[in-house]
Amino acid sequence: MKDIELLDDLVYAFLFIDSSLACLSFFTTQDGSSFFFEYLLILILIYLLPIYDNVRVLVSVIAINLVTTFAVISLTGHEIAWQDQYDIVLFYLICLVIIFSRRHLALSFARIRMNLRSSNELFHQRSRTDVLTGLLNREALREDFEQYLGNPVCTMICDIDKFKFFNDTYGHGQGDKILSGISHTFSRVFQDDFIYRYGGDEFLVLSFKNQPAFQKDVERFRQALKKQHFAGLDRQPTISGGYTWGLCTSADELRKMFALADQFLYQAKESGRNRVHYEIFDSGKAEKGLHEIRAQLDKSS
Ligand code: GH3
Ligand code: MG
Repeated sequence: MKDIELLDDLVYAFLFIDSSLACLSFFTTQDGSSFFFEYLLILILIYLLPIYDNVRVLVSVIAINLVTTFAVISLTGHEIAWQDQYDIVLFYLICLVIIFSRRHLALSFARIRMNLRSSNELFHQRSRTDVLTGLLNREALREDFEQYLGNPVCTMICDIDKFKFFNDTYGHGQGDKILSGISHTFSRVFQDDFIYRYGGDEFLVLSFKNQPAFQKDVERFRQALKKQHFAGLDRQPTISGGYTWGLCTSADELRKMFALADQFLYQAKESGRNRVHYEIFDSGKAEKGLHEIRAQLDKSS
């Protein structure tokens, strides 16, 4: 928008300079027909100028230009051939047509550009969003990864307890509703944080909050989930989680934080589920977690 205003200002400045030049040359020429070159200059300028938006002011500029030219002609009593007088009017009419058609084209292009930009944004947004839960997906995590480096960050992984039971007992449709219901609660409680659907029933929360504030939100989430109503279920879904926090300086360290959070999640499951285990980030402990994950991956491949 600022660019357009700047262009407008430039156009007016050029037009005023040019009309003054045209009037000046009129005073200094003996022959009325020499107008032709000044007008040609204005025409070329209008073609060369960037496309502009505020037609109302441009039309006023042309009207002023036209009126002053004829006022100067009649005041100075110069002899102007009638063909030249028609030429002047015709010239300004041509200018008006050019201005309007250029504006029309500019607006059409701007509209097309805007539509393209918003569809691109929409596609990009969709490519980052998990369809079922509306949370960020793995692709988004890959894109956002760098933003967590060099910052103190809380990293939490959560998993729904006995989710297979809900799927088997109530059907996959009901399972999907549980997933999206829990995701909604995640988004409501951790609204300033980044929540990714990490796997089937696994969620990853990354937060720049300090640990006490994050812990408060974890508790708020657990309370909210306890009270959440899931139609048609006679057993309340719960989640287990693990998190760690600390300054994350490299990609490798962030991966270690994920591994450690995963280890704490595993501990939470082992010690009875429906709880969240946490500890400050310890690189050594996380290294062990990474080994375990790699060993699991090796076993399953
Ligand atoms: P645990 O407490 O140990 O986590 O037990 P669990 O039954 O939850 O085990 P696990 O986390 O391994 O099970 C995840 C299940 O989630 C397995 C898979 O069938 C189901 N699942 C994965 N994605 C979806 C989905 O999009 N919709 C539904 N309805 N189920 C899904
Ligand atoms: Mg599970």
